Amino acid sequence: MATINVVNVAKKHTFSWYEKFYFYSIGKGLGITMKHFLKAAFLKGVVTVEYPEVKKQYSSRFRGMHSMKRDEQGRERCTACFCCMWICPANAIQIDASEVTPERQHLHPEDKYAKRFEIDLLRCIFCGLCEEACPKGAIYLDGGGEMAADNRQDLILTKERMMEKKGGAILGQRN
Ligand code: SF4
Ligand code: SF4
Repeated sequence: MATINVVNVAKKHTFSWYEKFYFYSIGKGLGITMKHFLKAAFLKGVVTVEYPEVKKQYSSRFRGMHSMKRDEQGRERCTACFCCMWICPANAIQIDASEVTPERQHLHPEDKYAKRFEIDLLRCIFCGLCEEACPKGAIYLDGGGEMAADNRQDLILTKERMMEKKGGAILGQRN
């Protein structure tokens, strides 16, 4: 029967005398830090920005906080059809629908509207399915990405916070 000889080819690393004292590694690390510090302090074109004074433009594909849209006549596009709520995999959307009364008819295109429309940002996974499922083009994830808060309530997006003002700007979101 043939025998196989296994040869251990892994070389043992031997440390030089200066590596054993760590000063070399510490100095090397400090050198890299200083290089980046000086570059950021004196050279133009570095990749960082002075946030929050300076803000970078989001990509058009960025999915941020939700906003709700109005139609050309300034009416709320949402007709409380529940498609977004049913498709949401995180169960983050809560809607209470209500019938449109005669005095509200100029505000809504159909006979039903969302009296309460809330999105829990602590549950939302920003998958964008609500935007895709909406048959009315009423909800978009184009509301920016700055959503830090120090209490849970600030992370519930209400309809009033999401609703587009007549003319385009979004109400209530922190910029
Ligand atoms: S983005 Fe996804 S997880 Fe968030 S509310 Fe819409 S469907 Fe739900
Ligand atoms: S946002 Fe769109 S999908 Fe959701 S309830 Fe309103 S109309 Fe329906």
